[in-house]
Amino acid sequence: MILKKFSAENFRNVEREEINFSPGVNLLYGDNAQGKTNAIEAIYIFARGKSFRAKEDKELLKFGEEGFRISIDFKSKKSDEKLEYSLYGKERLRKKNGYKTNIKDMIGSFKAVLFSPDDLSLVKDSPDERRSFLNVAISQLYPSYIDIYSNYKKALENRNHILKEASVGRFYDENELSSWSEYMAEYASYIYMMRRDYVKKAEFYSNKVIKEISYGKEEISLFYKSDIEKELDNREDIKSYYVSIFEEKKEREKCAGITLSGPHRDDIEIYINGKNARNFASQGQQRSIVLSLKIAEGEIIKEICGEYPVFLFDDVLSELDEKRKNYIFMGKSEKQIIISSCEKDENMFFADRIIKVSNGKYEIEK
Ligand code: ATP
Ligand code: MG
Repeated sequence: MILKKFSAENFRNVEREEINFSPGVNLLYGDNAQGKTNAIEAIYIFARGKSFRAKEDKELLKFGEEGFRISIDFKSKKSDEKLEYSLYGKERLRKKNGYKTNIKDMIGSFKAVLFSPDDLSLVKDSPDERRSFLNVAISQLYPSYIDIYSNYKKALENRNHILKEASVGRFYDENELSSWSEYMAEYASYIYMMRRDYVKKAEFYSNKVIKEISYGKEEISLFYKSDIEKELDNREDIKSYYVSIFEEKKEREKCAGITLSGPHRDDIEIYINGKNARNFASQGQQRSIVLSLKIAEGEIIKEICGEYPVFLFDDVLSELDEKRKNYIFMGKSEKQIIISSCEKDENMFFADRIIKVSNGKYEIEK
C-alpha cells in the first residue's frame, strides 16, 4: 500500500496543504509544535477510524473554524483509491472514490501501522491499552470486528444496567438478564477467537524481530489472557463456555452491580526470556518488545491482506538505538515509511523524501 498524497484543510494548525509522498522513506522534520504529528494523526484516521490522540473530532478543527476536511490518495494492490473525511458542524462525511461510505469501508480500504512515543509504555500500561492495541489491529484486518465489538459493548452496558438495579435492591427481570448474557456470549465467542488467533500470529512475527535485534539473545512469548481456560476450537463451545461463566458468577455480580468477566477484561501477558515483561523488562527491552509488536502488526497485514501497510513512525527514532533503527529500514524497498523527527541530520541518510514542517506548512526539500 502506497500513500501518494495527503491533503488537509483547517485540520489542527493546517490551513490548506498537500503533501506528495515518495513510495520509500519519507521524513517530516521540523521544530516542536509545527505540525509533524498533526499530519501523521490525520493520515492514521483513515486506518483507525478516529484520531489516536483526540477525544472528540471537534478538537481536530483548526481554532475558530467551522469544519475540517482531510483526504488521502493511495495505491493498493487492487487499484488507485481516494478517501475523504470531513466534519462541518455536526455533519460528518466519509467518501471513497467520490462516493459516500461508512467507517468500516474506510478502515477496510487503507492500512497503516502507527508507532508513537505513547506506545513505548504499552508493556507497562494497564490492560486497557493492550486491549485497545488488539482491537485496532484486528479491526484493520477484519472490519466486521468493529460491529461485533460494538454489539458486545452494548449488550454489556444493558447487562450492567440490570446488575446495578439488582445491587441496589430494585426490580429487575431475571429473563432479561439471561438474554443479555446470551448476547454477550455470542459476540464474546467471536472476539475471543479473533484475538486468540491474532496473538498467536503476533508472537510468531515479533519473535523473529526480537531475535534479530537482540542477536538471538531474547525471546518473546505472548499469552492471551481470557476467561476461557480450556482448549476450545468450536465457536459454539466457546459461546457455551461464556454462558456458563456468566451464569456461575451471576449471584456475585448482582451484589457487585457489574459484569465481572468477558473480553472487556482480557489482557495480553508478555514474557521476555521467560520473565513477565510488565514487572521485569528493562527500558531497552520494552522498546524492543513494542517495536517488534508494531513490525509484527505490519507482517500480519501483509500475510492476510497480501500487501504491507504504510508504516508511520512518529518521533520514535530518537528513542531507538542503531540496531533497532536499522531494523526498521531493513527491507525498506518493500515498505513505505513516514517518519517524523525534530532532527534532520540523524535520519536523512535513509530518506527518499525530506519534508520541512513549519507552522502547519509542508515544504518538500528533497
Ligand atoms: P513535536 O515535535 O513537539 O511533537 P509536532 O510538530 O509534532 O511537535 P504537532 O502536534 O503536529 O507538533 O502540532 C502541534 C501544533 O498544532 C501546536 O502548535 C498546537 O497548538 C497546534 N494545534 C493543535 N490543535 C490545534 C487546533 N485544533 N487548531 C489550531 N492549532 C492546533
Ligand atoms: Mg509530534
